Amino acid sequence: MSPQTGAWGETRYSLNELMMQSDSLARTADRPKHSAWRAQLRDAFRDAAELLDYLDLPADTTADPRFPMLVPRAFAERMEKSNPNDPLLLQVLPDTREDRVEAGFVADPVGDREARVGRGLLHKYHGRVLLVSTGACAVHCRYCFRQEFPYADNHAGNRQWQAAVDYIAANPQIDEVILSGGDPLMLPTARLQELTDRLSGIGHLHRLRIHTRLPVVLPDRVDEPLLDWLEALPWPVVMVLHANHAREFDHAVDQAVRRLRHRGTHLLNQAVLLKDINDSVTAQKSLAMRSLDAGVMPYYLHLLDRVAGSDRYEVGETDARHLVEQLRRELSGYLVPRLVREIAGAPYKLPVL
Ligand SMILES: *Cc1c(COP(=O)(O)O)cnc(C)c1O
Ligand code: SF4
Repeated sequence: MSPQTGAWGETRYSLNELMMQSDSLARTADRPKHSAWRAQLRDAFRDAAELLDYLDLPADTTADPRFPMLVPRAFAERMEKSNPNDPLLLQVLPDTREDRVEAGFVADPVGDREARVGRGLLHKYHGRVLLVSTGACAVHCRYCFRQEFPYADNHAGNRQWQAAVDYIAANPQIDEVILSGGDPLMLPTARLQELTDRLSGIGHLHRLRIHTRLPVVLPDRVDEPLLDWLEALPWPVVMVLHANHAREFDHAVDQAVRRLRHRGTHLLNQAVLLKDINDSVTAQKSLAMRSLDAGVMPYYLHLLDRVAGSDRYEVGETDARHLVEQLRRELSGYLVPRLVREIAGAPYKLPVL
């Protein structure tokens, strides 16, 4: 495992390296009984040629991306064979265009660095803090704005969250903690439990939010220990999923969502507007309707954060506005996601009107 020097000039590990660390940690320390999902994670596609071969596609892609490829088989199974433009494949397949330097595309487009108030804690908006509980994810989305985040120094995993807990306890205006990452559900459930045990001592907390892509890309993560943990929490729990295309929902995802709802979790979805993946009225309508069929309400539709290497995904603001205008005409109001752009330093995610 070689640490790399990130674009912020700090030592960082890739998400993948951190994932392997947390994998071996789980194998030795926690040894969870219900770890089918961990086995699936180890079995995920990590090599573009192998994934393309599985999809009956020619392997002519880039060899060695900076941000390693990672695609669970449960997600790859939803891709259409022999379709190089499959909307799920396009989200995760490395591309030589990632090495291009484009003006305006930077390492930290959303000002996370300025918002750090301690190890693993970002305090940007009134009343809520975001806890970077791990750097690991189950899938590596090529457009991800956190791919350059120096996780090695800045996540509060591995029990290093006391400073974050102290900060929250000392700031009574904070009434919501958002577990994010990376993907917080990459942590063993016992570790999540330790964290929320500490947070439950803070009287001014009223909500817990979890930002996760795991119930979508690896639905077996929603196992009994996780459900038991969620159900026993002393606050309303809001889980914000991340699916960009209707085809990301399949029977297993529906079941995972049903079990989460059955235990009282509120479910929302946020998506990123991605060129040639979900930038049509048809794709957005299907996503909203398919989410609702599963039991998930649309929340945000994000304009792309301009992270270095992601320009191939960008949809212009004018096109985005026209798209959402059309959605308003064709969908019930509650099915229309809020189109937002994140501007570093702004007090909330800015609506694009
Ligand atoms: C997105 C984000 C939130 C949550 O914002 P909401 O508008 O409440 O969904 C909170 N903190 C940080 C640092 C964020 O990036
Ligand atoms: S978008 Fe979410 S799941 Fe995908 S790589 Fe980024 S943090 Fe991980």
